[in-house]
Amino acid sequence: MSKTGLKPGVVTGEEYLTLVKACKDGGYALPAVNVVGTNSVNAVLEAAQKNKSDVIIQLSNGGAEFYAGKGMEDGFTAKVLGAVAAAKHVHLLAEHYGVCVVLHTDHANRALIPWVEAMLDHGEQHFKETGKPLFTSHMLDLSADDIDFNLSESARLLKRMVPLGMSIEIELGVTGGEEDGVGSDDDIGADNPHLYTQPEDCLRAYETLNPIGHFTLAASFGNVHGVYKPGNVKLRPEILKNSQELVQKTHNTGKNPLDLVFHGGSGSEKEKISESLTYGVFKMNIDTDTQFAFAEPVGKYVEANTKAFKYQVDPEDGTPYKKQYDPRKWLREAEKGMAARLDEAFADLGATGKSLALKKTDELAA
Ligand SMILES: [Zn+2]
Repeated sequence: MSKTGLKPGVVTGEEYLTLVKACKDGGYALPAVNVVGTNSVNAVLEAAQKNKSDVIIQLSNGGAEFYAGKGMEDGFTAKVLGAVAAAKHVHLLAEHYGVCVVLHTDHANRALIPWVEAMLDHGEQHFKETGKPLFTSHMLDLSADDIDFNLSESARLLKRMVPLGMSIEIELGVTGGEEDGVGSDDDIGADNPHLYTQPEDCLRAYETLNPIGHFTLAASFGNVHGVYKPGNVKLRPEILKNSQELVQKTHNTGKNPLDLVFHGGSGSEKEKISESLTYGVFKMNIDTDTQFAFAEPVGKYVEANTKAFKYQVDPEDGTPYKKQYDPRKWLREAEKGMAARLDEAFADLGATGKSLALKKTDELAA
C-alpha cells in the first residue's frame, strides 16, 4: 500500500524510524499494547493483521515476570527471561501476521534500571547472533527523580543501545495513575502542576539525547494511567504543541521534531486523542481498557456455562462438559474481546489500513 514499504515482522533501527516518520507525516499513531502472555500477544497480532495496521507490543516488568511464570522463585530473573521469551515469541511469529511490529518494554523506574541492563545483556547476545536487537526500544522512566539524573542516566543507557540499533523512550513530568502511586482524586486535579511537563524540560531532553541517538518522549499533559471518574482528567494537548514549537524554534528543525508518546490513553476523550496526533504523537499506550476487554467475555462465558466450571460431568444427567471447560474455549473468548477493543483503538488513532508492511503477494508481483 505504501511507497515506503517494510518487510513484515519486528522492525528495529532505520525501519523503526521509517515507521515513526510515516505515523507523524500521516497524522496517525500506533497503539502500544501491554501483553502478559501468548494469549494477549496473539490477540494483538491478530487485531493488527485484521486492521492492516502496524502495532507496538510492550511488556511491563510485571507482565514480563508473569510471562515467565509467577512460580519462578527468582522474580528478577523471571522479569528478565519473561521479556526475552516474549520477544523471541514475537520475532518468530510476527512476520506471519503480515504487519510490522515494534517490540518495546514499558516503565522502568530507578529501581528497575538493572532490569533494563539485564535485558540489554540479552539484546547484545541476540545482536551477535542475528544482527538485530531483541527489542526495538526500552523505556526508562525516571520522571520521579530530578531531571539531571533522569537525562544523564537516559543518556548512559542510550549510548549502550545505539550500537544495537535501538531507541530509548523516556518520561518527563509525573503522569498520574496507580502504577506511579499518584492516583488519588486529590492528586489528579486539573491544576496540579506535576501533571504538566514544561516545554523547557523537553528542550533539555532533546539537546541531551538527540546527539547520541534516537529517543522518544512521554510528556505529561494531564494524562493519567488507568481509568478514573469522568471530570478528573483535564487533558491539555497544547502542552505538546508548545514543546514541539520551542525545540523547532531553538534548533531550527522541521515541524514536530519530538517523537511523542501518549501514556495513560485508556479512557481518554477521543477529540483530545485526535488533537494530540497533530502534535507529533506516534504511540499511545493502552493497557487498562484491553485488560477489561480480555476479562469481560470470560465472565460472560462462565455465567453462561456455570456447570462446566463446577463439574466435569453433570451430576444429574451425565452430560460431559469437556467441550465447555477446555481452556481454549474461554481463553479464545478473551482473545476475541481484546482484539475487538483494538479495532476501536486502531480507528481512534487513525491507523486502520496504514500498515507499511509489504505483503508477500506484493513482493511476488513486484
Ligand atoms: Zn508513563
